[in-house]
Amino acid sequence: MTGARKLRIATVSLAGCFGCHMALLDMDELLIGLMEKVEFDRSPLTDMKTFTRRADVGIIEGGCCNEENVHVLQDFRRNCDVLVALGQCAIMGGLPAMRNAIMHSDDPLRECLEEAYISGPYIRNTTHHVPNDPVLPLVLDRVYASSEVVRIDHQIPGCAPSGRLIHDTLVSLLAGRFHGFDPHSIRFD
Ligand code: SF4
Repeated sequence: MTGARKLRIATVSLAGCFGCHMALLDMDELLIGLMEKVEFDRSPLTDMKTFTRRADVGIIEGGCCNEENVHVLQDFRRNCDVLVALGQCAIMGGLPAMRNAIMHSDDPLRECLEEAYISGPYIRNTTHHVPNDPVLPLVLDRVYASSEVVRIDHQIPGCAPSGRLIHDTLVSLLAGRFHGFDPHSIRFD
């Protein structure tokens, strides 16, 4: 990935908390230097909802908890040369995947939705119905890591990864010299 043109990055937040996108912005002044090398295409940061051109790097926050997440992730795979899973939700489902452990009944998804919308200790739902408007994306049987849905080329671990780690990884990737992390560069404190 070399050349005079600015390299294109696309980003998306699937089943995540947007914290990994906040970490992207947490590069602070490093972002100024990065913007001399890259431009953002489809991304919540640009508010562009579709790809205008193929991206060199696609950054995925979050795993897949509904069918819309799956379609968007597949669209990123089609439109990006390299896909990066950013943060633990994209890498292994993260916090949203805690619902995968709910399996007391024959219908764990129903059990999870009823706990979330009807019977949970802090729920005040006078309709006693789980929302089921047709415009809502179909909820999947469990939360899937991004790599369970499409091929992921690289992972940046953390919750959220530090702005410095994201910056250094992107710079290495864009220069074509990313060969994995020095384990000492990954910290979770
Ligand atoms: Fe949020 Fe952490 Fe998941 Fe990133 S990895 S989306 S910061 S919960």
